[in-house]
Amino acid sequence: MTDHRDADDPAATARILPGPSDPSDTRAALHVQEEAVRIASELIAIDTSNYGDGSGPGERKAAEYVAALLDEVGVETELVEAAPGRSSLVARLAGRDPGRPGLLWHGHLDVVPARREDWQVDPFAGEIRDGYLWGRGAVDMKGADAMMLALIRSWAQAGHQPPRDVVVAFLADEESGSVHGSHWIVDHRPDLVEGCSEAISEVGGFSVTVPGRTGAPERLYLVETAEKGIAWLRLVAEGRAGHGSMVHEDNAVTRLAEAVTRVGTHRWPVRLTPTVRRLLDELAEVTGVPYDPADPIASLDALGGIARMLGAVVRNTANPTRLTAGYKTNVIPQQATAEIDARFLPGYEHELYDTIDSLIGPGVRRETIISDVALETEFSGPLIEAMITSLQDEDSGAHVVPYTMSGGTDNKAFSTLGIIGYGFTPLLLPPGLDFAALFHGVDERVPVEALHFGVRVLDRFLDSC
Ligand SMILES: [Zn+2]
Repeated sequence: MTDHRDADDPAATARILPGPSDPSDTRAALHVQEEAVRIASELIAIDTSNYGDGSGPGERKAAEYVAALLDEVGVETELVEAAPGRSSLVARLAGRDPGRPGLLWHGHLDVVPARREDWQVDPFAGEIRDGYLWGRGAVDMKGADAMMLALIRSWAQAGHQPPRDVVVAFLADEESGSVHGSHWIVDHRPDLVEGCSEAISEVGGFSVTVPGRTGAPERLYLVETAEKGIAWLRLVAEGRAGHGSMVHEDNAVTRLAEAVTRVGTHRWPVRLTPTVRRLLDELAEVTGVPYDPADPIASLDALGGIARMLGAVVRNTANPTRLTAGYKTNVIPQQATAEIDARFLPGYEHELYDTIDSLIGPGVRRETIISDVALETEFSGPLIEAMITSLQDEDSGAHVVPYTMSGGTDNKAFSTLGIIGYGFTPLLLPPGLDFAALFHGVDERVPVEALHFGVRVLDRFLDSC
């Protein structure tokens, strides 16, 4: 691992968090960390619930709030709207070397809805309690947006430049397919991210504590380098309509039910992609417990709650989620439909479709509702080294490993422009915290200390990216 900082380079003093040796710098560091928490709280208090049907408040208020924060420190922004109120905000920070390709640093401004009555706190108050910042978006992903903002503000105020251009984007609509966010930018304003070769964003760089070889706890930091692809499918069975009291052998409901049962109960084969294999190898190395390549699920248990996500990245999955047919008990309908949430591993898209087609059999048709690409990139290169170094500088025991995410992020959209995306939002989490459950969950919250840690790591990273 190389240290990219150079003592003779005046820009190398750009780091705002150089450690406790200089008390004035320490005060600056504390200020940035605290500002990140304050901004996160204020962003949570701006309700940007995305219901997926266009009925929500939209992102404009949040985008204007972000624009004001950046304007205050002289950072020029551009607000774009795919539809009224569906705002995204983009800014370009000039780097020290304009000859290098840029880094895109993106976060989404929308959140999934929350029902107040289910929560211990008001999900849109941004309350700090028991060392945690609570509220919808605390982890997904206003906390991360706030870390970006606090750091950019401090760098701009100090007049420091990152090593290369950094394009920051605060996006609309991630929680509903990004039609009004990243996909719109890719289709209509690709100039906003022009020249960027790589991107960092959400759901990666967080710690998971596992029992080490000697029994002492060890921390893994999971950097997202791969995402499963999305295939939301509709199955349609056609039959003959008729009276429910009579003999009837062409029943769409029966045929569909059989097809749905075959898909839902299919045991998908284990397929270890390079990223998943690397994670399993590193996990086995740290814990001293080997895994069974034919059935690695059991070894993932060491990872706690996140195993629920990682259990889904050793194979394709297809879960039936909706059924529709009929309008009266004594009327046999001529059509029945089901919806399937299917996800495929990088390289296994064809296997997914071929298998589903053979499972549904004749007389049932498959349609696509939504599909999006799978992603996988190597866990190597200067940017990965910068992630590893910046994490280990703040946590000397950090084991930094790649992982595959079961869902998707805006990295999918930007990948169509050739931008290689990573999940890198560093958080040092307490052992036993079920982080995976907090995404879209009730009582979503993030430790204040984890945000402070993330700001320190990202500051180092930004200086060496
Ligand atoms: Zn998110």
